[in-house]
Parts: sequence; C-alpha cells; structure tokens
Amino acid sequence: MNEYDAIVVGLGGAGASAAAFLAGAGSTVLGLEQFGPTHSRGSSHGRTRIYRTAYYEGAAYVPLVQRAQVLWRQLQSNVDVPILRRTGGLMIGAPDSPTVGGARRTATALHLDHAVLTADDLRKQYPQFAVRDDESALWDPDAGVLFPENCISSYVGAAVASGAELHYGEAVTSWTSEPASVTVRTAEGAYRARSLVLTTGAWTPQMVGDLSLPLTVERQFVLWFPSAHPGFTGPETMPVFLWDRGTEAQTYGIPDLGDGVKVGAWNGRPARTPETADRTFGEEVARPVRAFVRENLPDLVPHETAAVSCLYTNAPDRHFVLGPHPRHPNVTVVSACSGHGFKFTSVVGEVVARWVRGEPIDYDLRPFDPGRFERPAPAR
Ligand SMILES: Cc1cc2nc3c(=O)[nH]c(=O)nc-3n(C[C@H](O)[C@H](O)[C@H](O)COP(=O)(O)OP(=O)(O)OC[C@H]3O[C@@H](n4cnc5c(N)ncnc54)[C@H](O)[C@@H]3O)c2cc1C
Repeated sequence: MNEYDAIVVGLGGAGASAAAFLAGAGSTVLGLEQFGPTHSRGSSHGRTRIYRTAYYEGAAYVPLVQRAQVLWRQLQSNVDVPILRRTGGLMIGAPDSPTVGGARRTATALHLDHAVLTADDLRKQYPQFAVRDDESALWDPDAGVLFPENCISSYVGAAVASGAELHYGEAVTSWTSEPASVTVRTAEGAYRARSLVLTTGAWTPQMVGDLSLPLTVERQFVLWFPSAHPGFTGPETMPVFLWDRGTEAQTYGIPDLGDGVKVGAWNGRPARTPETADRTFGEEVARPVRAFVRENLPDLVPHETAAVSCLYTNAPDRHFVLGPHPRHPNVTVVSACSGHGFKFTSVVGEVVARWVRGEPIDYDLRPFDPGRFERPAPAR
C-alpha cells in the first residue's frame, strides 16, 4: 500500500487549496474527489463569489480574509485566468442592521479603509440601487469578485505541479485513524497516510459521523438578470453588494461580467443530504428574487436568463469548522462554509498545510474548533 504524508478528501474550494499548499511545502499528497474537477454538485461552482474585508460577521475574520487576499493575488500572478477582480462593495440596509452596523464596527475597530454613505449619497453615486430613505451603506473599497472555478483549477494545477497525486471519480467510503497513521478506503482500494484532511463540504456530517456535528445542508439558488442599461451594471461602475432588509438572509449581487447581474436572494431549503437536496427551479424560487430586482435594481430586466443551485453547509453559529478532530489529532476537519467561506479557501489551505506539518499558526482559530459543539453546558 502506498503511504503519503497527507490524504486530502474532497477537492473543492478548500481541498484544492490544501492539496496545493501541502504539496508546495514538500509533503507527499494524495487527493481524492468523488466527482470531476470543478463540478456543480457541491458549494464552489456558479462562476463568481464575493470577496469583502469589512467583515460584519466579526473582526476575528479580518486577519484571515486579508491573508486570503494576499494568497489570491499570489495565485493570480502565476496563472492567466482571472482569480480576483476588485470592484468595491456596498453593505446596504438600516444603519444599525447586522450587515451595515457589523461591517462598520469591524472597519472602525481595525481601521480599515471604508466610507459610510447616506441614502442621498447612494442615489447620487450608485443610482443602480433604489434605496429607501432610512437606508445607508458601508463602502468596502477592497471588496470584489472571485472566480471559483478558476481558483480551484489553478490550485489543482499548482498541486499537481508540486507532485500531488489526485484521483477524480473516487469517493472515500470510510476512514480509520491510529495514533501514527490513517487509512482511507474507496471502491478502488485502501490508502495510508500520516494525516487526513477532510474538506468534504456538504458531505462533512456523514464523513465525521462520530462527531455529531450539528451542520445542516441548505440548497440555495442564484439567478442572472440581463441589464436594461449595460453602462451601469458592469464591474467598472457597479460594486458587489449585500442588502440587509431584516429578513432571514441578505440579498447579494455581483455586477455583469458578460452574463448578466447575478443575484442571490433568500430561497434556502434545508436538505437532509446533498443527494436529496431539491434542485428543482421554478416559480416559487424565482418570484421573490424577481420582485426584489424589480423594486431595488432599476437597471435590470426582472426576468432571469439563468439559475443555478448550490449547497450551503451551515453551523448553528454561522462560523466555520476548522481544526483537528477532538479524538483524532491526525485528522483535520474543514467546513469553511455557512454560506460565506469561499473567499477564505486560499488561507484555509495554507493554515491546514501548516497544521498538518506541525508548523505554528498565527491566527486565533478557537472560534472554529470542531469540538466546540461537544462541550458540556456550564454548570448552573
Ligand atoms: C449560492 C452560494 C453563494 C455563495 N456565495 C459566496 C460568496 O459570495 N462569497 C463567499 O466567500 N462564499 C460564498 N459561498 C460559500 C462558499 O461557496 C463555500 O463556503 C465554499 O465553496 C465551500 O467550499 P468547500 O471546499 O467546503 O466545499 P466544496 O467546494 O463543495 O468541496 C467539497 C468537495 O468534497 C467532495 N467530497 C465530499 N465527500 C467526498 C467523499 N466521500 N469522497 C471524495 N470526495 C468527497 C465533494 O464532491 C466536493 O467536491 C456561497 C455558497 C453558495 C452555495
């Protein structure tokens, strides 16, 4: 049986990056992916993702997201396809809403470059957004658009160039861990390594069943709308946006990069497993998004030209799961999702590689500890 330094299971956003950083640092790596490269059954497809730094979810994310940007730029310097395009970003909503207030608190606490715009400022500077009188925005000049399929295939290319062995169409059916090694089984056979990295996205609950992680899978749809006034909706004039109307999740959007403006509005539907997720697109999904576009984005034709389903893997606290398995220190569990993880996948790969190689890590990752859901309730 071949033996590796590390086996990475799942070569989506986080796994491709982890394989690239591990192999780049000199580790022998086997990557196993159940589907093909950049497939559309998981969480990392759909052409674009938002990158932003004034993180309303908490200032603790900022060092990670800033390092992620440095790594995306490094990746960009090695490939000819677009990786990250800066457009600036607007968090729109009531000034004290979680999205606008949270982003403002983070930007202020960490002295990030930002601006607060009133409804009048927005109408003058960004007439693409039909804001209400009581709305304002936080401007994040560093925000932009990531191209996930390009990011993944570029990290896959880097991993292979550094000697990683990657098997596509090979699903891991089980794994076991001993103190000094792990064994992974697939229909093709068994593989052994010193460390195991589980970057299995929406399949994570079933891959670490013994942890009883309270992760839930949620199907989402994103839609593309054509421009009525193309000069106003391209990346030179329209920033990425998150719009908080006090509903369960924000509506967000990405400017027209040649295929229309992409809009994701609340349309989540829980799924027991990725396989049973309802991926049927119909009126029930489309109607609320069209209504949002009609009311708030006057430069768009409110009829979608395309729609794609995708999966969130949500933790109850909406943070990530990132760290060693509490009972198997040579197994690293990664679910950097809760609907906002793609922008971090570069730094997540770097952190995982350092972890596996026993190197120090500069970030406080305790909020992401996979064991945090197992802690006993404090005594009353
Ligand atoms: C609609 C939508 C919009 C989003 N927008 C944003 C955004 O704007 N900005 C942002 O930062 N984030 C965003 N996210 C979140 C982000 O896309 C995810 O956090 C990220 O893609 C998760 O990457 P991952 O590597 O965990 O999962 P994936 O990329 O899905 O990778 C998991 C991989 O593991 C493989 N796998 C699973 N089980 C096995 C097995 N047993 N054997 C072998 N392979 C296996 C799967 O096939 C898959 O390829 C969005 C997500 C969605 C769905």
